[in-house]
Amino acid sequence: MAIAQGISEEGGLFVPESIPAISMDELRSMADKTYAQRAAYVFSKYLTDYTEAELRYCTESAYNTKVFDTENIAEIAHLFDGTYMLELWHGPTCAFKDMALQILPYFLTTAVKKLHMDRKVVILVATSGDTGKAALEGFQDVPGTEIMVFYPVEGVSDMQKRQMITQEGENVNVCAIKGNFDDCQSGVKKIFTDHDVLAALEQGGMTFSSANSINWGRLVPQIVYYVSAYVSLAEEGEIAYGDQLNVVVPTGNFGNILAAYYAKQMGVPIGKLICASNINKVLTDFIRTGVYDRNRQFYATVSPSMDILISSNLERLLYLLTGEDDAKVREWFTALSETGRYEVTDAVKEKLSALFYGGFCDDDETKATIAQLHKEYGYTCDTHTAVAVKVYQDYCRETGDTTKTIIASTASPYKFSVSVLEALGEMPDSYTDEYELVEKLHEVSGLEVPQSLAALKSKPRRFTGSIDKTEMQQYVLHQLGLS
Ligand SMILES: *Cc1c(COP(=O)(O)O)cnc(C)c1O
Repeated sequence: MAIAQGISEEGGLFVPESIPAISMDELRSMADKTYAQRAAYVFSKYLTDYTEAELRYCTESAYNTKVFDTENIAEIAHLFDGTYMLELWHGPTCAFKDMALQILPYFLTTAVKKLHMDRKVVILVATSGDTGKAALEGFQDVPGTEIMVFYPVEGVSDMQKRQMITQEGENVNVCAIKGNFDDCQSGVKKIFTDHDVLAALEQGGMTFSSANSINWGRLVPQIVYYVSAYVSLAEEGEIAYGDQLNVVVPTGNFGNILAAYYAKQMGVPIGKLICASNINKVLTDFIRTGVYDRNRQFYATVSPSMDILISSNLERLLYLLTGEDDAKVREWFTALSETGRYEVTDAVKEKLSALFYGGFCDDDETKATIAQLHKEYGYTCDTHTAVAVKVYQDYCRETGDTTKTIIASTASPYKFSVSVLEALGEMPDSYTDEYELVEKLHEVSGLEVPQSLAALKSKPRRFTGSIDKTEMQQYVLHQLGLS
C-alpha cells in the first residue's frame, strides 16, 4: 500500500511500524547467497504483505546480469588498507539510484495486482539528473504505468541530459523546465495535490505515484546493500562477524545514509555514520548544532545530485530519534516550511552526534581528492564519491578512528566527465561532444566505458522540448490525454 501510494494522504512519509532485527547467525547464513537472494531475505522482514514467491520474482527480475554489469550487483573495491568503496553504480544508468529504481516497478506492479487497483499508475518525477534516468529505465514499457520526468534545463550534465532525452519506451515522457531543481520539485508537488488535476485523473481511470526517495519502496532496497556488503567483507576475511564497520555516504536527500542507519538499527554492526555534504552544507550544520536552517544561499556545485537544501528523509530519522513522537516532528517540519528553520531538543542533539559525523568540502577540495586518489591509488571516482572520501579523510584526522570503513560510491565517473577530467588536469580546450570526453577519460582512467552510456551515442533525441514552470500542470494533463 505504502509503495503504491508513495506519500500518505496527510502529506507525511510512511515508515515501518517497527524496525525488524537481523542476527549474526542470519548474516552468516547469507554468505553463499546471491545479491538477489540476500535482497529477498531482507525484504521479507519489511514487506510482509508480499509472499516469498513475489519477493523472489521481484528481486530476480531486478538484480541480474542482464540489468547490472557485474554479477555482484554492488561491487566492493579495495581502496587502501581497511577502506573499501561500495560501488553502487553498476546498473543501467550508472548511478546508485538504479539499486532501488530497478526493483521499484516490480514492487509497484505486484502491489497494484494484489490490491486489484485497475487504474493506470502515473509516475511523476522531479530530478536533478540521476533519479530521472533511473526511474525512466525502471518503468520503461512496464504495463499499467506511465512516467513523466521533469529536469531543470541547465541543471544537469551533458551525459545526464543525453541519457534522458534519448529514452526509449512507449509510456515515457521527458520535459525540461526553464528553472532550477526546486522549481521542478515544487511544480511536481503542486500537481500531486491539486484537486482539479486529481479529479481529472480519477475520471480518466488513473492515479499518481512517486518514484522520489520519499517512497518507502525506494528506501528498503538501499538497506540491502549495506547488509550485503557487511556479509561480503566478513566472508573475504576483511572483518570478522561482529566487528564494527563505519559507513560514509555522500548525501543529498538523506535517503542513502538513512538506509545505512536502518541497517544499523536492525543489528548489522555499523559504527559511525559519516554524512558528507558539498558546500550546500545544511546537514553538516544540523548534525553539529541541532539547528536545521535552509535560509542560506544555494550553490550549484560539481556534485549536483547533492545540491539540496531540504533533505526530506530527515523526517524519518527524527521520528525514530524522538521515540516516534510524530507531533514533535510535525511541529518541526511545519516550522521548516513556514520559516525555513527548526531546532531539535537536546536529547535528539545528543543522539545525532553520537550516531553521525557531519562534514563537507568545496569544489576545489572535491577535485583535489579525485586527483589524489587517481595519483596515489590509480582509482578514478566521480565528484559525489570524492566528497565522501574527503570528508572521511577529515574525520580520520580529527578523531583518529581506525575502524574499518566502507564508502558509498554513488556514480560512475563517466556521468561527470567534465569535472573529473578538469580534476585530473586532462580537460581538452575544446571538444565536439561528450563522447570525446568519454574517450579521453577512458584513456586517462583505464576504466571500461559502461555499455549503456556508449550505446546512447547513436540513439535519436526524442524529447527536446522545454516549458515554463507555470505550464507543468497543463502539460501533464495534455500528455495524459485529459485536456
Ligand atoms: C542521489 C545522489 C546522491 C544523494 O543521495 P541521497 O539519498 O539523496 O542522500 C549522491 N550521489 C549521487 C551520484 C546521487 O545520484
